[in-house]
Amino acid sequence: MSDDTNGPTQHEGEPHEGALGNRLNRLRAAVLGANDGVVSTAGLVVGVAGATDARGTLLTAGLAGLLAGSMSMAAGEYVSVSTQRDSEQAALALERRELATAPQAELDELTALLEGKGLTGDLAREVAEQLTEHDALRAHAEVELGIDPDELTSPWQAAGASFLAFTAGSLLPLLAIVLPPPYVRLPVTVVAVLAALVLCGWGSARMGDAPPGRAMLRNAAGGALAMAVTYGAGSLLGAAGV
Ligand SMILES: [Zn+2]
Repeated sequence: MSDDTNGPTQHEGEPHEGALGNRLNRLRAAVLGANDGVVSTAGLVVGVAGATDARGTLLTAGLAGLLAGSMSMAAGEYVSVSTQRDSEQAALALERRELATAPQAELDELTALLEGKGLTGDLAREVAEQLTEHDALRAHAEVELGIDPDELTSPWQAAGASFLAFTAGSLLPLLAIVLPPPYVRLPVTVVAVLAALVLCGWGSARMGDAPPGRAMLRNAAGGALAMAVTYGAGSLLGAAGV
C-alpha cells in the first residue's frame, strides 16, 4: 500500500476505513448476488430438466428465472438503499440546522466525541475548533454519524449492481443446461454449478477473513441440496405426466 497521507503508522494489509472498506463491501455484495443467481437459477433449470427434455422449455424457464430474480434483487436493493439514504439525509439536515442554531453546543458535542475517541480535553477542543472551521458539517457527519456526506450510496447504482451480479450468476446454469447435448446437460450443469459455488465460497470467506475450507463446502452443499430437491420435484411431476 503506497498511501503517503497515512504516514508510516499505516501497516501493510491494514484496511483504512472509507474507500477500501466501501470497495470491499461492494465486492462482497457482488459475490453474494452472483451466488444467489447461480443457486436459484440452477435449482430452477435442473428442476425443469427433471420433467422435460425440451430445450425451448428449459431456455424459457431459465430466462424467466434470471429476469425475475435479477429484477427482484434490484428492486429490493433500491428500496433498502433509498431508505438508508433518506435517513442519512434527514440526519444531515438536522445536523445542518443544529450547526446554524446552536453552534456552541455543537462544538462542545464534537469536542466530547473526540475525547471519547481518546484525545485529551485540550487537544480535543483544538481539533474540534479546527475541524469546525474547515468544514463543520463534514466533521459532524464523519465523527458523529459515521457517514461521508459526499459518498452516500446511490440507490440506482446499488440496484444496477445487484441486477448485474444476479444476472452474471444466473447465466452459468442457464448456459450449462441449454448448450450441451441432452445426455450430458445435467452432469455439465451440476459440475459447473458446484465449481462456481466453491469459488464464491472461497471468495466471500477470503473477504471476510474466515477460513475458506468450510465456506466452500457449505456453499456447494447448499447448491447441491437445491438442485437435488428441485430435480426430485421435477422428476415426480414429469413422471406423473403433469
Ligand atoms: Zn452535531
